[in-house]
Parts: sequence; C-alpha cells; structure tokens
Amino acid sequence: MRNISILGSTGSIGTQTLDIARQNKDIKVKALAAGNNVKELAKQIREFEPELACISTDELAKELKILIGDMNVKIVTGMEGLIEAATYASSDIVVTAIVGMIGIIPTIEAIKCKKDIALANKETLVTAGHIIMPLAKEYGVNILPVDSEHSAIFQCLNGEGGNRISKLLLTASGGPFRGRTIEQMQNITVEDALKHPNWAMGQKITIDSATMVNKGLEVMEAKWLFDVDIDRIEVVVHPQSIIHSMVEFDDGGIMAQLGSPDMRLPIQYALYYPERRILNSKRLNFADIAKLTFEAPDFENFRGLKLAFEVASKGGNMPVIYNAANEYLVSRFLNRKIEFLDIPKYINESIEHFQYVENPTVKEIIDMETAVYEYLGSRC
Ligand code: NDP
Repeated sequence: MRNISILGSTGSIGTQTLDIARQNKDIKVKALAAGNNVKELAKQIREFEPELACISTDELAKELKILIGDMNVKIVTGMEGLIEAATYASSDIVVTAIVGMIGIIPTIEAIKCKKDIALANKETLVTAGHIIMPLAKEYGVNILPVDSEHSAIFQCLNGEGGNRISKLLLTASGGPFRGRTIEQMQNITVEDALKHPNWAMGQKITIDSATMVNKGLEVMEAKWLFDVDIDRIEVVVHPQSIIHSMVEFDDGGIMAQLGSPDMRLPIQYALYYPERRILNSKRLNFADIAKLTFEAPDFENFRGLKLAFEVASKGGNMPVIYNAANEYLVSRFLNRKIEFLDIPKYINESIEHFQYVENPTVKEIIDMETAVYEYLGSRC
C-alpha cells in the first residue's frame, strides 16, 4: 500500500494524481491540500476519504466544514496546515503539486520527516535546490521527478549505474509562439498565451511555457536533480512533444524517453518507482507520427530562457530573484495589468537591481521573494 499526501490536489497535477489513485487500489490518499477551490476539495474528500484536509484560509475552512460536515476528516488551514499535510505521520510519499515558492517550507519539513517527495513543484528546487538536495541525502529521502522532462531523464538513467552524464538534452515544444519575433509578440493576449499546443496544464505553467521561462526553470531543476553543471544542459526545441528528454553519455550514446503527452505517466512512475504499472493511455503510432523535428532554441526572441541560463550560471540568490519576479509578473499578466513582453523585461530588471548573495538560507530566500514583490510592485 502506498500512502500519499497531495499538496495542490485541486490543480492539474493534483487531479491527475488522484486519477492514478483511482485506477490503483493500493494507493491510499491520507492528506489533501488545496488553495481556494472548496467545492472540488469537498468532492475529493468524499471520494478519497483522507484523514486530513487543508485549505488556504479559515474562512474557506468554514465553507468546507459545511460541505463535508458528516465526514470524519480533520480540517487544517494555511502554512501550518500545509506542513501538517506534508508531514502527516501515516503518509510515505508527498506529491508536491502546489504552484510556486510556497512549496519550499512544506517540502523541507516533509523531508525532515523522511517522506519521499514526488516533485512537480519545480519552483522549490529552482530557488532552494542547494538546501533541498543535501537535506534529502541526509535524511535518505528520494526526490522523484514528476515534471515530464525530468521523469524522462530519470527513466533514461535507469541501469546506468555510475556512468557519467555527458549532456542532458531537455526537449521543449517551443510553446504557442514558437517562430515569432519580439515584434510579432507585441500584442499577445492572456487568451493567446493560455493556448498551449500540446499540454493542458495550470495557468501559471502555461504562461511560463509561452515565455519559455518554464524551460529555464526546468534547466535549473535538472541541474539540482541530476547534479549536472549548467554548461552540460542543452535545450532542444521539439514541437511534437513526443521525446520528453534525452541523456547523452560519454561514448556519444543517447538515451531518450518517448510517449504521448500525458502527465499521468510521470506521476505514476514517481509513485511506483521502479515498478511500471499498466496505464490506460494513448499509445504512439510511429507511422501516424511520421516525422519528429528539432530546432535550436531562439534565445534572442525568448529572453526569459536566455536569462535563466545566465542566473543558473551565477547561482546564489539569482535564481530566487528570477523565479520570484516571474511568479509576480505572471500573476500581473493574468490579471491584465502588464503586457506579455513585460515578463522578461522586468525579470531582467529585477536581476540587475538586487545584489548577489551566495548560498541563501530559507529565510533569505523568503525575504528575497518579498523584496522582489515590493520592488516590482513599485515598477509595474
Ligand atoms: P495548478 O494551478 O493547476 O494547481 C495548483 C494547485 O496548488 C491547486 O490545487 C491550488 O489550489 C494549489 N494551491 C495554490 N495556492 C495554494 C495554497 N496557498 N495552499 C494550498 N494549495 C494551494 O498548477 P499545476 O498543477 O499546473 O502545477 C503545479 C506544479 O507542477 C507547478 O510547480 C508546475 O510548474 C508543475 N508542473 C505542472 C505540470 C502540468 O502539466 N500541469 C507539468 C510539470 C510540472 P486551488 O486550485 O484550490 O486554488
């Protein structure tokens, strides 16, 4: 039996994780945590009967109690509640499907309680990878990637023992604006940016894919997960999203993982690693696909990706500034307060504004997030 906690159960990864739990009778959902979607959380509580449920505020908790008053479930709230869900005594695996840097502290606390982490919440590794990875090692905890690219690499490394990775090749669809110049991206609307060609995902990551900041975050995520220097991580644009990523070894041999774009595969792989379970998914038909294509990334028009490589090479608090600025700017764009191209513009400005700090502590990371929000609040 696999006992799991899901942080972010009402989101795209959260609901797909619950779908895997629905299909596999040996997964028991022990704790669920959501932000604002009370109705969906109430439905999930009825179906999966967790022992603990967390919602972001006390106000929403009152609404939730009305909806599931007859159920035997402890309701908790806020950051304390998230931590309680992440460290829930009878859970073995925590699926971090929450969005943004809010995932840092619950993830750290879960590791300290020796929970394996099925990690979707990339922002946590991007900003605090230098704390999370050594901590996981210290506590003997597995960090199992859920992001499809990182799961692909993880799968490619199976059986490779101590063989050195010569290069990681992270594939990218290129998003909805692949091939466009900066001039052609002047008047992009929220609706345009939310139309991803291959994947249905939460709003934040969909905007990140359109700016290609998502690929930048994934580069930093890969550096921490696989302990590979940034100069050995390459992005390859592959519009069909069939090859999910590749690993090149010292002899030039390249391993790739392929499949239909379906996040349930990496989620299920993380939950059952190293076992592979049956998954009712669309299978590839190579004759139908006929052609897989590849391009170099366009660093000139997608400045967010170029900036990610720069901050990743500098390290320290630079990825924190990059990520915090992006989180703030994406939310402003979704609220129609800034333009699409303001996202890379103000990320760049934030990176230039703040001073470099080596090895930031958790407190410094959280303080830096607040400082970036305040700075950008006065700029846009
Ligand atoms: P969604 O926006 O769909 O879901 C986010 C989840 O986090 C929701 O359940 C939301 O709750 C919850 N949440 C937000 N704020 C809080 C809070 N304060 N307390 C508790 N829960 C909160 O995001 P995705 O599922 O798309 O992405 C989640 C993470 O996974 C991100 O880091 C993303 O980069 C990563 N990822 C996602 C992929 C995808 O296919 N979607 C692919 C690879 C990685 P509510 O809705 O109730 O407000």
